[in-house]
Amino acid sequence: MKKIEEMIKKQVYDLLEKEEIKCFIGFEKGQLPFYSPPAFITEAGQIERLIWDDFCGANLSKYLLNAVVKPGEKIGLAAKGCDSRGILRLIQDNQVKRENLIILGVPCRGMKDVSNLTVEDNFNQLPTMEKCLACTNPNPVIYDFLLDEKVEANPQKRFLKVEEVEKLTLDDKYAFWSGEFEKCIRCYACRNICPACNCRSCYLEQHRVGWHGKAVELAENANYILTRAIHVAGRCIECGECERVCPAELSLSTINKKIIKDINSLFGEYNAGVNLEDKQPLCYYHSDDPDEFR
Ligand code: SF4
Ligand code: SF4
Ligand code: SF4
Repeated sequence: MKKIEEMIKKQVYDLLEKEEIKCFIGFEKGQLPFYSPPAFITEAGQIERLIWDDFCGANLSKYLLNAVVKPGEKIGLAAKGCDSRGILRLIQDNQVKRENLIILGVPCRGMKDVSNLTVEDNFNQLPTMEKCLACTNPNPVIYDFLLDEKVEANPQKRFLKVEEVEKLTLDDKYAFWSGEFEKCIRCYACRNICPACNCRSCYLEQHRVGWHGKAVELAENANYILTRAIHVAGRCIECGECERVCPAELSLSTINKKIIKDINSLFGEYNAGVNLEDKQPLCYYHSDDPDEFR
């Protein structure tokens, strides 16, 4: 990882020195151990802040949504597989232009999970993040420079939780999901981090139309979580960020992956945010499409 870090620093130094980018989005050392938050570097003299380690699990792509670029200006960023799918999502949704980006692609062996860290833990014992154990695309799908050898995907846990919930009786499913929805505190972190939630004007901010109640209780929480899930259906890139940032630890990936599993079985295997040219299954109608969605 040190080698990748050095390559990132060198590339970013050159790009900033030659004014080929106006800003680089990467990671830096956080104030806490095992914590590497996003970093925004605008001058070549700042590159020593940049790092690459086992805690660079956050998806950086959403920061592009509000990046202000004038014609001809570019933003640089480091992209693991999941970041690159987020970038593709934003390009496909016409929110970001490819020509405004310089992408340093980093094949990814999975990041460490610190969500249940205790004082006794040491670095070698830390498990891999859940989202990484379900990752179908650890290699960047779009990049200008590739900084390492590509790696094998091993999405052993992709639909594990979905299959567990599918086996429950209807009553038990209701109890499971009610318990999940009740935990939500409506902080909207799941929406804010999500590269597929990229509407400039979200329905949640429409105060007058009454589409969305503000009460933090089961029915309104379920309405919010399920509406968001449907809004990203067929577009979710499985980055797991919504679940990672949720302070209430809701099983949000289970909802998204259930929809993905159903789309795959109804319309054929499809991975969103992998191919710029693909036709998203829920955006097209064919006369032989299945007429039910369960
Ligand atoms: S989801 Fe995939 S690309 Fe993203 S951090 Fe995990 S293993 Fe890496
Ligand atoms: S991040 Fe979790 S608690 Fe916050 S709104 Fe989303 S589901 Fe609710
Ligand atoms: S819904 Fe969650 S897993 Fe899907 S793209 Fe958004 S943040 Fe990533």
